[in-house]
Amino acid sequence: MQNVAILGSTGSIGRQALDVVRAHPDMFRLYGVSAHSSEAAFLDILLSERPQRAVFSRPLSTAVFGVEVSNGEQALLDLASDPKVDVVVMAISGIAALKPLLSALRAGKRVAIANKESLVCGGNLVKEVLQRGGGELLPVDSEQSALFQCLQNGRRDEVEKLILTASGGPFFRRPRAELKDITPAEAVKHPTWSMGRKISLDSATLMNKGLEIMEAARLFDFPGERIDVLIHPQSVVHSMVAYRDGTVMANLSCADMRLPIQYAMTWPERVPSPARPLKLWEHPDLAFYRPDMDRFPALKMAYACLKAGGGCPVVYNGANERAAALFFEGKLGFLEIEESVAYALDRFENRPMGDLDDILGADGEARRLVDEFYMTRSKV
Ligand code: NDP
Ligand code: MG
Repeated sequence: MQNVAILGSTGSIGRQALDVVRAHPDMFRLYGVSAHSSEAAFLDILLSERPQRAVFSRPLSTAVFGVEVSNGEQALLDLASDPKVDVVVMAISGIAALKPLLSALRAGKRVAIANKESLVCGGNLVKEVLQRGGGELLPVDSEQSALFQCLQNGRRDEVEKLILTASGGPFFRRPRAELKDITPAEAVKHPTWSMGRKISLDSATLMNKGLEIMEAARLFDFPGERIDVLIHPQSVVHSMVAYRDGTVMANLSCADMRLPIQYAMTWPERVPSPARPLKLWEHPDLAFYRPDMDRFPALKMAYACLKAGGGCPVVYNGANERAAALFFEGKLGFLEIEESVAYALDRFENRPMGDLDDILGADGEARRLVDEFYMTRSKV
């Protein structure tokens, strides 16, 4: 029996992780949950699931009988490293996941990680902790889970390339000129996945795939030149690994995040899952296209950031997080998201990221640069 802590339990991944825990009462017990701002949804989870521990960012307005509730950042780090926890599901969005991720790994936990921003920004710190024998990192992001599974079919030196698939988002076929006036409501309508609003927007801008290029590089230690992206609008093939003899291993399933969440929690075991089995005959139209790098600057910038290293990936992510927030507030247009990321990257003086303070410093600088972009642009 494994004790599970779901960090970010009120989100899209968090709720699906709760489903996985409920589906396997013989394997998992929900020990702890956390949330940030959705108090009503969090209280519902506490009342229905009755975990032992709960962490909310601020004090809750009511007590819940039988649940030990605490609040604030330190409480979150303590839950991530609680000696009673075996598996941490990292479902917090944004760079906010980095500190609890490090806390969980340092305490030797298995972390089923959905959050990509923390890996993009803190990849080196995470690698250091893992090399010192801290914890285990199992990918949840569907593309990374697919790569992880396909990589189990051969030795590392037999691998030629990692091939990430991308749905292309809701506007894949629209001419760029039409993208200028996209609204937040249109941008978060993903064609194949139902996800939180920030990652849905990232999928529409292709910033999500840019982050995933860097995430794959961090998780599997491959350089950008050996990570390809293929547009695959149906989201049935979740990613592939090309081996040196010409064989390509692919991972296919219905688009249901409970599958990769569960696999990260049960690996190396495979157990029945709540996901619908794949009926390939329902998808006679599987298609793959090479992305046009000029049409998708988010991809081009991601490769450049990976190559430059240092603080560039942190700035790519931080600028994108800030620009996404401004877009949702109606202050930036859809195409201005990538423009503001480019603006921040152009002005950032790259330097090595030695520790957490360096990373958080570069993240803050990226956010300020995006605010500067917004101010200069609104004066025009
Ligand atoms: P959501 O926005 O749906 O949920 C985010 C969760 O994180 C919520 O529980 C939220 O709490 C909590 N949270 C937000 N900000 C903070 C903070 N500053 N401190 C602590 N907790 C915080 O996101 P998703 O579930 O869609 O995504 C989560 C992560 O997983 C992201 O990194 C995303 O890229 C990745 N991912 C998601 C996929 C998906 O299908 N959704 C697929 C692959 C990867 P509250 O609601 O209470 O504010
Ligand atoms: Mg993904």
